[in-house]
Amino acid sequence: MDAVAGPDRMLNPATRLLWRSNNCLQLELGDRAVVVDGPAARSVRRLAGRRSPTDTGPATGTAVLRALADAGFLWPRPAPDGEDRLTPPVPRLAAELAALSARRGEGAAEVLSARRFTSVLVHGSGRAGPHVAALLAAAGVGRVSLREPGPVRLHHGVPGGVLPGDEGRSLAAATADAVLRAAPETATETLPPDEPADLVVLAEDKPADPDHRDVLHRQRRAHLVVQLAAGHGVVGPLVIPGLSSCLRCADLHRLDRDPAWTALAVQLSVRRTRRAPGEVALESVIAGLATQQALAFLDGEQPAAIDGTLEQHPPDWRIRRRSWPVHPDCDCQSGR
Ligand SMILES: [Zn+2]
Repeated sequence: MDAVAGPDRMLNPATRLLWRSNNCLQLELGDRAVVVDGPAARSVRRLAGRRSPTDTGPATGTAVLRALADAGFLWPRPAPDGEDRLTPPVPRLAAELAALSARRGEGAAEVLSARRFTSVLVHGSGRAGPHVAALLAAAGVGRVSLREPGPVRLHHGVPGGVLPGDEGRSLAAATADAVLRAAPETATETLPPDEPADLVVLAEDKPADPDHRDVLHRQRRAHLVVQLAAGHGVVGPLVIPGLSSCLRCADLHRLDRDPAWTALAVQLSVRRTRRAPGEVALESVIAGLATQQALAFLDGEQPAAIDGTLEQHPPDWRIRRRSWPVHPDCDCQSGR
């Protein structure tokens, strides 16, 4: 029997099966949909375990099933005594795995398992930092920590992040608690210096410190900027040193447009200690967006924040992408 049409295949569990008529099936997987008509529809129905008592004819439509397998709609069926490829690393991640399977097909379990071995270090006292840390852990990232010497301030408290009751505690310790509330199996200790994190999230609601920026570049550490301000939130750029534009590139572009940018950046770097602006709904959108970009990078996909920023300005509902290509006067591509 053909391996594709045979009993060793099953429908990707994330597939929705809809009947358009008695002989016509519509299969939906993520944002993709295909319609299977005629005899092949019977074979698909068998794969879904919905064989009817009168359905005794031979399986047909092998070419259709092969196309469905190539498109990720069909998966290998686990052997009775073999490892179930649909089992997530921890039960809590079953929904994450099902959603990933819509995009990554048979490779979804491998992608999710690989997240267990990734690490993210969040830097800074930005309001979104603890929330991003908790979301990454909830999505299966194995080690997440926040490095920031300061305390929790009341404005840090957001659903999913640190709590209003954490005010005055160490922000790093309160973030670790937020991470463990979301994903108890996550490691929250910071990695030793000789084991760099796979991604650094710079959650400072101000321009990145030039010295820290340069250190990250020299050490070839990928970093993602997340910033919240009054009236807008920004995710990006995501810098992969030597392979993408960098934060200095973005500064040089700003300087091209505004000769006073350097003076403005210095003033913007002064940390606000009270009355920091922040809309909780915007923070939620930006934390989610930053987490998506970080996961795309960790999963080996192509995040839109590389060479660009993703920005939201309430009450506008759209997320706009601004491009920040490599600046011709920056030396970030010369292996500095
Ligand atoms: Zn650059």
